[in-house]
Formats: sequence, C-alpha cells, structure tokens
Amino acid sequence: MKLQTEILIIGGGATGAGILRDLSLRGIPSLLIEKGDFLSGASGRNHGLFHSGGRYVVSDPEAARECIAENRILRKIAPHCIEETDGFFVSLPEDGPDFRDRFIQACKDANVPAHLLSRDEALSLEPGLTPTLLSAVKVPDGAIDPFELVLSNAKDAETYGGKFLLHTGVTSLLMEENKVKTVLAKDLLHGEEYQIEASHIINATGAWADEFLKLAGLRVAMALSKGSMLITNQRLTHRVINRCRPPSDGDIIVPNHTVSILGTTSVRLEDAENFEVTPQEVSRLIRETSRMIPAIEEARFIRAYAGIRPLFQSEEKGDDRAISRGFVLIDHGKKDGIKNLITITGGKLVTYRLMAEKTSDLLCQKMGIHAPCSTHLKPLPGAGKLSGLKDRLKTLGKSETLCDCELVRKEEVEEVLKEGKLKNLQDILHRTRLAKGTCQGGFCVYRLLGILNESGLAEGDSNNILKGFLEERWKGIRPILWGSAVKEEELMEGIYKGLFNL
Ligand SMILES: Cc1cc2nc3c(=O)[nH]c(=O)nc-3n(C[C@H](O)[C@H](O)[C@H](O)COP(=O)(O)OP(=O)(O)OC[C@H]3O[C@@H](n4cnc5c(N)ncnc54)[C@H](O)[C@@H]3O)c2cc1C
Repeated sequence: MKLQTEILIIGGGATGAGILRDLSLRGIPSLLIEKGDFLSGASGRNHGLFHSGGRYVVSDPEAARECIAENRILRKIAPHCIEETDGFFVSLPEDGPDFRDRFIQACKDANVPAHLLSRDEALSLEPGLTPTLLSAVKVPDGAIDPFELVLSNAKDAETYGGKFLLHTGVTSLLMEENKVKTVLAKDLLHGEEYQIEASHIINATGAWADEFLKLAGLRVAMALSKGSMLITNQRLTHRVINRCRPPSDGDIIVPNHTVSILGTTSVRLEDAENFEVTPQEVSRLIRETSRMIPAIEEARFIRAYAGIRPLFQSEEKGDDRAISRGFVLIDHGKKDGIKNLITITGGKLVTYRLMAEKTSDLLCQKMGIHAPCSTHLKPLPGAGKLSGLKDRLKTLGKSETLCDCELVRKEEVEEVLKEGKLKNLQDILHRTRLAKGTCQGGFCVYRLLGILNESGLAEGDSNNILKGFLEERWKGIRPILWGSAVKEEELMEGIYKGLFNL
C-alpha cells in the first residue's frame, strides 16, 4: 500500500508519541510507525522515576536542569500520570557527609529544591529506613506512569489529526541523492507492506537509532546500557528513596501504585533485542537496596525486568554512568547531507516533552513555517482524573472487578476494547493495569480472555493466547523464583494445567 504524509515519525516511545502530539497541535500532518505496540522500548521498561533532577545534579547538571524544568511543567499538564511522593537522598555511615554537602550545593546551583532532614525526621516519615542512616535530603521526586503518559499523548495527537500504525517496522529506506525518497515498512503481524513518502522523517527509535540510520548508510554513536529492576509484592515506602552517593548499582527504590521498584544496574550490551536479568544483578540489587530499607532482604518479589538506555556517546567514557543523560538532536541535512532526516535520541522519559518541542521547532525552521509549541500549556486528556490507584479506589465496588491486585474494572477494559485497534493480548495489558500487580496476571488474564471470546475479539486459539502470555510472564518470574514465589508459581501451574489443560 502507498501512503503519503508531511512528517513520518519512526518509534512509538515517549519521544515519538510526544512529537506526534506536538506536531499535531501545530497543525502539521504526521504519521507515526512503531514496530511493536506503543511503549515497546525503554519507555515501557524503566523505573518510573519522576525525576526532580536530583540524581544528576552532581554528575550532569545540565540534564538535572532539564529534569526540574520539565518536572514543573508535567505536574501541570499530566497530573493524572504523576504521584507527587517527594524523594529522599539517604546518607549511610559509609557514605559520609562529603557527598551530601556537595549534593545540597549542586541542587541549589541547578535550581532543584532540597531540604536537609535529620535522622529522626527522616525515620518518622519513612519508618522502613535503616535506623543507622545519618540524614536524608528531601527533593521533589515522584513516580510517573509511563503507560498513561505515552497513551495520553497518542490519544491527544489523534484528536488533532495525528495518525499511527502499530506493529509496523521500517525495513528499508530508498535514497535519492540527498534525501530519503521512500520508506518501506511492513505490518509485522499480518505481513502487509507499505511504501511511505514523506517530506521529512524523524528517527525517534531510542536505543535503535544507530540501527535505523544504517538503513540510510549513516551512523550515530550510541552506547547501549542495560538496566535491570526488581518489583516487590507490596509498596515498601511512601517516597522515592535514593542513596546519597555517586550513581551506582542498587541505589534507588521507586514506589509505583501498589508495589515498589528496586534499581538499577548498568551493563554495556551490543544488541538492543536480546537481553535478560542475570542472577548476579538480582543479588546485587537486593544487597545494595536493603542497606537503605532492611525489609528488602526478606521481601517477596513478583517480577524482574530490564530496559536499554539510549545513551548518546559523544566520546568514549569508561563507565556508562558517566555518559550524559541529556538528549541529542541531529539534523542529518547539516551533518551528512541528507536534508529530510532528523534523529532525536538520549534524554529521559521526564524530558520527552522538551525533546519533542525541540524536534518540532527544528522541523518548522526547516519547513520555513511559524507554528509555536503549545504542549507546555495544554493539559493532556485525562488530566482531570486522579492519578493511578486513587482513581480506582473511587469506583471500587461500583462495577465488576477484573483484576483484584490493581482494582481494574471490567468496564475499563471494555472501554479499551471499544477503541477496536488492538491487535493482541499484550496491547490490552499495555493499556490497563491488568497483569501488573501481585499475581502478575495469573488470575485476571484468563478472565480477560473470557471477555475477548464472548465479544468475538480473541484472534486465534485461546489456549495458544494463554500460552503466549505465560511464556512472556515466565521471563520476568524466573529470575526471582525462590521462597514464596515458588509456592505462587506452583498454584499458577495447578490452575493453568488443571483448569485449562495447558
Ligand atoms: C533501566 C532504565 C531505567 C530508566 N529509568 C527512568 C526513569 O526512572 N525516569 C525517566 O525519566 N527515564 C528513565 N529511563 C529513560 C527512559 O526510559 C528513556 O529515555 C525513554 O523512555 C526513551 O524514550 P524513546 O521514545 O526515545 O525510546 P523508546 O521508548 O525505546 O522508543 C523507541 C521505539 O522505537 C521503536 N523502533 C525501533 N526501531 C524501529 C523500526 N525500525 N521501525 C519501527 N519502530 C522502531 C521501538 O520498538 C521503540 O518502541 C530509564 C531507562 C532505562 C533503560
């Protein structure tokens, strides 16, 4: 099929979805294509830390300034995606006060509000902290729901005429002298092939930015850094807890709805597709984070997962943590003579809006049009809702609950199904909190399948869909399979073998 658009955006992470919204609000016709569902890359596999900038004030002050500026904007335009928890940077006896004092000064310099708390003040607010702590510095960190954020951007973009094709990957680029003439893409579920012509192409493929550019015979220096995380079966703290020392493994615990996420590691990879969480990473994360919250040693974990950070490497640095968390915007017209191609990569989830604004500004400049950005002013759809669990508690008992762990109502799922564009089970899970809670979908996914069957939406054999789901689920469960997690898995095995004959 032949398609034509003004702007073609490749990649449906936060950056791509943010650009689609920004351009659509400016009235510029745009199409986004994504090889998986929205959030298939780092945007769906991160910590969910709503950065205050505190984590970068000492090592990367420019990234810290971007984070705090966007933190302030997102509180206004996306309050339904954010839990305003605050965060502590905790000093332990082995950390000493030197780094803490530098940290407080660096917060001042980067305009990140920071307030020093004594040991007793910190313990009274977060009783799970180790009693050996020396002090804590409070900053405006929080928790952000990447799924709600990216999908709200996509929804708003659609309202203003933005279009997207999911499960559709770029396979090659046909070049003509100094431009990309045609983009060839393929629907990876049904095999349909597309020839897309666009005046400008934006490479928003995150960690795949270099892979994508190779199709045009170009390169960009990316370092692929894997970060692994563990999810506990309950929420351990009210606030984000960071270690007050130079960035290192196992130095952060982020509350997320009903659970806590422990992170993270930094392991250099060559390939953005094939990776897993190793037993060494699991042990290290538990050992390091339990220094701040001792209960972690005995905690029950429900899942391990990892994501690849898209780090732009301007020069070789020994440690990936030393590479800037800032973003890079490349006009390949200026850099390589390919005048209709732009790359945007690096950055953070929290800076996605700024990245989208700068990319769209560059495009407008190249197209010679005046169309100012409005994403810093216009709230996202859903901004009037309460965030996460608070919203669900409001409607508890008012309709049938499909997922008991995350209080997802049947109506909510039916609403998502009405959109009619979903292509598989994982797409539905991305759009609801189903399978994100303590049982990891063990009890709710077969109920969901019942609904899909009743409404004639289940594509293919139900047992194969369930098997696919269990195989995906298993990847996250295997690294944490000991103690009570084994008992839970035996129960699941009994259910799925006994009831469904799998
Ligand atoms: C372990 C870890 C923890 C993190 N924690 C945080 C945090 O707490 N807070 C925060 O603000 N940031 C965090 N980040 C950073 C943040 O997740 C990323 O910076 C951000 O999500 C990048 O978004 P993106 O849209 O640029 O890339 P991605 O989300 O990776 O999107 C790129 C998309 O391009 C698609 N794609 C690739 N190639 C093609 C192709 N050929 N055709 C079509 N589509 C293609 C991919 O499928 C993918 O969906 C973390 C990152 C990691 C890895």
